[in-house]
Amino acid sequence: MKNIIILGSTGSIGTQTLEVIEKLKDKFNILGLACGSNIELIKKQIEKFQPKYVSLANEKDALELQKTYKDIFFFHGKEGLLELSKIKENNILVVATSGIVSVKAVLSAIENKKTIALANKETLVMAGNIVMKKAQENNVSILPIDSEHSAILQCLNKADNPYAKNLWITASGGAFKNNTREEMANFSAKEALNHPRWAMGKKITIDCATLVNKGLEVIEAHHLYNLNYENIKVVIHPQSIVHSLVEFVDGSFLAQMGVPSMHIPIQYALTYPERLEGIKTNSFNIFNQNLEFFEPDHKRFPLLNLTIECGKKGGIMPAILNAANEIAVYKFIKGKIKFLDIEKIIFNEIEKAENVINPTIEEIFAIDKEIREKLS
Ligand code: NDP
Ligand code: MG
Repeated sequence: MKNIIILGSTGSIGTQTLEVIEKLKDKFNILGLACGSNIELIKKQIEKFQPKYVSLANEKDALELQKTYKDIFFFHGKEGLLELSKIKENNILVVATSGIVSVKAVLSAIENKKTIALANKETLVMAGNIVMKKAQENNVSILPIDSEHSAILQCLNKADNPYAKNLWITASGGAFKNNTREEMANFSAKEALNHPRWAMGKKITIDCATLVNKGLEVIEAHHLYNLNYENIKVVIHPQSIVHSLVEFVDGSFLAQMGVPSMHIPIQYALTYPERLEGIKTNSFNIFNQNLEFFEPDHKRFPLLNLTIECGKKGGIMPAILNAANEIAVYKFIKGKIKFLDIEKIIFNEIEKAENVINPTIEEIFAIDKEIREKLS
């Protein structure tokens, strides 16, 4: 029996993680849950999974729930996430929060030798060098939940396979994959949120439409699998059946395939290196599949290369890009700016930026805060 704590249990990945665990009750126990402000949903999750520890974004909410659930230990704010990262009897920390709120909790969980099942992208994008170094020093596994990185892990068999030559990360192409720049200019958030293949949180769905998501995934893959950026390629695959591929030194390619469902990579991160039957996703029908692969169109989607370039430069550049992107995306979702303005805002910040090499975690947080305050 393994104990699990989920940060971000009320989100898209968090709720799907609970669906996976519900089917594996004899293997996993929910020890703790953390969310932001979705009180109605966390109450339902508390009743169903009976965690011992719960953390909420606001103190007021925590105090209110404490009145009803007297036997639970409640925490709040970023400190609450840090507390959950240290709980002695915990085995696996699932990191499914959005944004940067959990980065310090991840570092603390690594120091406390907890296995990390990582969905959150910002952690490796902003602080990949620091996180991976700490994981290595503490002999802690960082198991990816993101479908592409899970696919790569499944093909590699172990994170540092010396025979891997290139990683091929697939992208569905997002909501505007067949549109011209002129058409994109006038699309609303509602249209951009209509993802062709995956149902996800709003922020990441817009990142799919700009292809920033794929750039962030290249940065994550660089950190997780220790390959040079030149050896990490992006390929547009509209069907989202092949979740990524590994090309080996002998010219052999391995691909991981299946229906687009996050249940499979979530479960693999929890059961790694084993596999269990678990939740039944719609079975994959191998017949009549028409699998296509295209090169990305960098003219229509210039943010893909910009994001990868920031990864290559390293230092604080990925953090600057991430913060500028997040602010721009939320402005677009709220209808304050147009789709192509996301691009303008990010290019503008990156052109002006001065890099700091080998930043400390505090320097990374400081630049993140500076960019957010400036652009908000
Ligand atoms: P959602 O927006 O659906 O969920 C975010 C979760 O984080 C919610 O539970 C939210 O709580 C919680 N949260 C937000 N702010 C705080 C805070 N200050 N303190 C505590 N909890 C907080 O996001 P997704 O599930 O889509 O994505 C989560 C992460 O996983 C992202 O980094 C994303 O890029 C990555 N990812 C997502 C995929 C997907 O399919 N959705 C695929 C691969 C990666 P509440 O709702 O209660 O406010
Ligand atoms: Mg992905």
